[in-house]
Formats: sequence, C-alpha cells, structure tokens
Amino acid sequence: MVGSFLGGFQGVLGQVAEEVGRTPGRGRVADYIPALAACDPRSFGMAVAELDGSVYGVGEWEVPFSTQSVTKVFTLALDLAREGDELWEHVGREPSGNPFNSLVQLEYEGGIPRNPFVNAGALVVTDRLQTRTGDASGTLLEFLRAESGNPELDFDTEIAASEASHGDRNAALAHFMASYGNIDNPVPLLLEQYFRQCSLKASCADLARATAFLARHGVRADGSRLLTKSRAKQINAVMLTCGTYDAAGEFAHRVGLPGKSGVGGGIIAVVPGRCSVCVWSPGLDEKGNSVAGVAALDRFTTLTGLSVF
Ligand code: GLN
Repeated sequence: MVGSFLGGFQGVLGQVAEEVGRTPGRGRVADYIPALAACDPRSFGMAVAELDGSVYGVGEWEVPFSTQSVTKVFTLALDLAREGDELWEHVGREPSGNPFNSLVQLEYEGGIPRNPFVNAGALVVTDRLQTRTGDASGTLLEFLRAESGNPELDFDTEIAASEASHGDRNAALAHFMASYGNIDNPVPLLLEQYFRQCSLKASCADLARATAFLARHGVRADGSRLLTKSRAKQINAVMLTCGTYDAAGEFAHRVGLPGKSGVGGGIIAVVPGRCSVCVWSPGLDEKGNSVAGVAALDRFTTLTGLSVF
C-alpha cells in the first residue's frame, strides 16, 4: 500500500499514471459514433475527489471528453430521487451478460430492460425523468454543474447530432419498448433527450466531483440530501454488478469498486465513505470499456488498498 495517499492522492496518481503509461496496447476508439472516432486512444487523465471536495489529478484530468454512458448514473439517481421504488417496475437490476446495446433479452423479458445501465434501461430512465421534469437533459445538466462546481459544463451538439444520425439501434430499442407500453414519451423526443444526455462533455475533475454524492451516501456538495443512504447503496450496487456491461464480473474482480463506463473512454468509480474517482482514456476493449481506464483503477485500488471488499 502506498502510505502517502493518506495525506492526499497525488503520489498514488503519479505512480498509477506512470505504470499505465508503460503498458502497451490502448484498445480502439469507438467509431460507431463518427464524432468519437477522431479521439487519440493514448490520451489519459485521472482524478480523485475526497468527500470535502479536494481534488487530485494526473495527466489530462482537466480536459473535457465525451461522457456518454457515464451519465446513466446521474439520470438514475435523479429519477430514483423523484420516483422511488416504482422505477424498478419498469427496469430491472440484474447484470445482462450482453453488450450494452443488445436487443435480444427485451423480447422474452416483455420489454423490461435488465438494468438501468444498458442502453435500453437508460432509455427507460430518461423517459421517466422526462415525464417527471419536462426536461430530462436540462435537469441532468443543472445537477452536474452544481455538483462539479463548473457552470460551463455543456452538451456537445456535434456529438449529439452525430449519434442521432447513426442512432438506428437506440431507436429500435426505444420503439420496441414503446410497443410493450414501457415508454411514455414520443420516441423521437426521448431519443433527442437521450442523445443530448450522452453528448455531455466533462473532465475527470468535473466527474470525480460530481460523483462524490455517491461516496457521501447520497449527500450533495451543498450538504442537502439527494438520496437516502439506502438508495445511494442501491445505485452503488447496480454500478458494481452492471456498470461495465458484460465485463462487470471482470471489473469487480480487478477493481473491486462500483464503476460506470462510457464509450467515450471515461469510467467513474466510488469508494463509499472515502472518495470518488474518474479516469479517462478513449481506447476501448471489445466490451466498450476503456483499456487504460480499467488498468488504472486496478492499480489504484491495489496500491491504496481502497475497495469495497
Ligand atoms: N451514446 C452511446 C450509445 O447509446 C452510449 C453507449 C455507451 O457509452 N456505452 O450507444
């Protein structure tokens, strides 16, 4: 264990970055969303936020990137805070064992997605948040600006448009669930909200800070409570079991923390009661998780001894 992390995480982050930098092979950037294909797979940044808001970072930790599915954690928290347990009648909380954009389980499971972190489940959550707020992506943006302390956070209209014009798979998921009565809003409106949500740009520093409410067991940066302790626990549990798709078992084995990845190469992770972490590197493995990101979190928990196990 690196003793110096008790006085701050700077030392351990430097060591993680140095070790990961020596590892060959960075995976491939997502190219099914054309605007993401231009990223450099070798980019790397990592930040840790402590409960009091202090943040430590290494590499490109202040560079905004496309957050993509990382945002699914925040929409889940925002909807659960409003709706409570009724949400779980519309989306499950079991690992899917399938790719994030898979259609296959939906038919034999009656249009109820396995969990809120596969695309189908996230579409249901965004739909329900849209019904409750009239502006799901605006609610998300306001929350993230407040929690990160960065009023400049915003959506990337080019990425949203790029995804919309290549969005047949997500459109199919949404229409299919609508045919089972599990989508309330018109599908085009839902897709617009969902693609906007996915296009949010934020840095590791922003996201580490914005994730800290889960490390604080549901308490926001201003001291108010978004979620009960029990609901914060539920979200951390779903992140652990479902946050990295059909690699969630491998991620738990290597990292031992609740985590959520996105195809932009970001991963957020939570050490409940201690800190929140965000790592970014755009090169992905075949499951859609950042190669260097998982490696960095693996080294982080190994060097610090911080994990939920
Ligand atoms: N916007 C992406 C999609 O819907 C998000 C997927 C991801 O990050 N895993 O395909």
